[in-house]
Amino acid sequence: MTSPSARQILNDVFGYSAFRGEQQAIVEHMVAGGDALVLMPTGAGKSLCYQIPALLRPGAGIVVSPLIALMQDQVDALCQLGVKAAFLNSSINADAAREVQGRLLRGELDLLYVAPERLLMPSFLALLDQIHSNAPFPFPTLPPEGEGHSFPLPSGEGLREGDNLGIALFAIDEAHCVSQWGHDFRPEYRALTVLHERFPAVPRIALTATADTPTRGEIVERLALEQARQFVSSFDRPNIRYRVTQKNNARNQLQAFLEAEHPNDAGIVYCLSRKKVDETAAWLKEHGWDALPYHAGMDAATRSKNQSRFLREEGVVMVATVAFGMGIDKPNVRFVAHLDLPKSMEGYYQETGRAGRDGLPANAWLAYGLGDVVSMRQMIDNGDAPEERKRLERQKLDALLGYCESTTCRHQTVLRYFGEEHPGNCDECDNCLEPVDTWDATLAAQMALSCVYRTGQRFGAGHLSDVLIGKATERVEKFNHQRLSTFGIGKEISAAQWSSVYRQLVASGILESDIEAYGGLKLTEVARPILRGEQSVWLRRDADPVKRKAQRAERTAKSREPFAGANDDPLWLALKAKRTELAREQGVPPYVIFHDSTLLEILSQRPTTLDELARVSGVGQAKLARYGESFLGVLKDVAHFDK
Ligand code: ADP
Repeated sequence: MTSPSARQILNDVFGYSAFRGEQQAIVEHMVAGGDALVLMPTGAGKSLCYQIPALLRPGAGIVVSPLIALMQDQVDALCQLGVKAAFLNSSINADAAREVQGRLLRGELDLLYVAPERLLMPSFLALLDQIHSNAPFPFPTLPPEGEGHSFPLPSGEGLREGDNLGIALFAIDEAHCVSQWGHDFRPEYRALTVLHERFPAVPRIALTATADTPTRGEIVERLALEQARQFVSSFDRPNIRYRVTQKNNARNQLQAFLEAEHPNDAGIVYCLSRKKVDETAAWLKEHGWDALPYHAGMDAATRSKNQSRFLREEGVVMVATVAFGMGIDKPNVRFVAHLDLPKSMEGYYQETGRAGRDGLPANAWLAYGLGDVVSMRQMIDNGDAPEERKRLERQKLDALLGYCESTTCRHQTVLRYFGEEHPGNCDECDNCLEPVDTWDATLAAQMALSCVYRTGQRFGAGHLSDVLIGKATERVEKFNHQRLSTFGIGKEISAAQWSSVYRQLVASGILESDIEAYGGLKLTEVARPILRGEQSVWLRRDADPVKRKAQRAERTAKSREPFAGANDDPLWLALKAKRTELAREQGVPPYVIFHDSTLLEILSQRPTTLDELARVSGVGQAKLARYGESFLGVLKDVAHFDK
């Protein structure tokens, strides 16, 4: 018996024509029995790195994952491909669990997804002992193979056709959950070393999309992966376009963004507070968007209903706190919009990273203003965390503010934060697409700072701008500020530009907001040399809103929206309708039938035979057999209708 090659499985089962990045090297290393630590960004294709070796090695691949809510969809997707997969977690009853365990014992599974607490139960470990000792032949250790080679597996004495006894490998997904410093810490993950101790011959692969070096070190140490080969990919997400917009009326700006670029798409809108989530979702709904709220304060049933609608229906906008996201692997999230600042660059990268897992163009859009800087700083200062932690949080926020105010390539700035080089000029961020001017703002900064000083260091940017441009408002008169030497000295500069100056002075720590004075601005030590003329200040020149609007219109005209042109095409609509119908019949999300990228390729290739359809990326043998005729039928009907 000769088993198929990794390439064949990639083609026949998954319907893909080539491995991506390091996938092939990882697959070969695993098939040969090695341990691996895989660091790859979201959407890069981590799953294949253990799924294909699990199919090639004898026995079932045991996949440990904390994402219980996801397991059903992952298993559904594998079953659609003809892979024998199941899951075990607290969401299924005892009978169903017994049934799955029976299948495992009888060698009827290729992949078993299991929650860590379940895996660590003595009864489950005993079950693994049993299947491990039932394996009819020792685990082969094969030399790494080149492309296209096959991996001959010994056929065991007395092995019945179809039996798949033993443990093929252990995959530890979301491996950063061992890290105490991360947000996703799971104490059970630390006990997973038991796998290595109990089954030293079974290869292990740990996978994560968390990029930072300390977390990597912790994974190696905590999971005893010192001997494992490390596969570290670039963390760039080239299909995500990063944009930071100056906030003036955030909701209207969001609506304009959605109308211009995502009228029919699924996406996530992040807000800081539960209240704002509820209000924003209600507002979007009123304005005709299919928007749903999601936050930890909602009852579990509504939350899970909303999540399920987001996953299973098309074009739902989820308005959420950061409670939403971990384990959302909907591939066609086309945008992530932030109406409030994330807490750190890590948070920004992770949250925006939920867009465009399918590799098609996606947008990360953030609206940001002075109010955000002030409120985020206050939140840290007022928090209960010990001073050391607060200092760290301030540093992380400052890095994020530096990113927001930066005038250089955003892909480069993001990656540099994670210690990776990027050549810049990405053509996929606002700064590269519409280069930003900087200007010598030394004199303006001196005026702005001295106005803060002369008004007593207790007023906000709005009032300070009024004083500078010489606007005699009620407030100005009430405090007699028209008598100050700074009254009207900044007439040459518009109110909008003064507000931009103040925002940048606060973001860079030259001014800070005083909590006791209700957020009034006051000078910091850094302001001194500027006031004394010893240090110059360069600031970004924010785009003029009118000009920006025109540029946006132009950009939309040469839209990079993946479905531009397709949205009105009757064939596209018919293909999507067929997909929805098939998904509904089986109670699975539409992308489990075919991804958007596969449907788009069907739309452009217009295959007329099963052979032609099989060549489309994402159409494997099982799906071809199951759905081939249905989709060819749609193509024929519409072609007929076209004539
Ligand atoms: P990750 O777990 O790294 O976020 P996934 O494993 O979910 O990523 O893969 C992301 C998407 O890319 C999936 O839709 C997957 O089917 C697809 N994919 C993975 N590898 C390939 C490949 N070699 N060719 C084409 N598509 C791929």
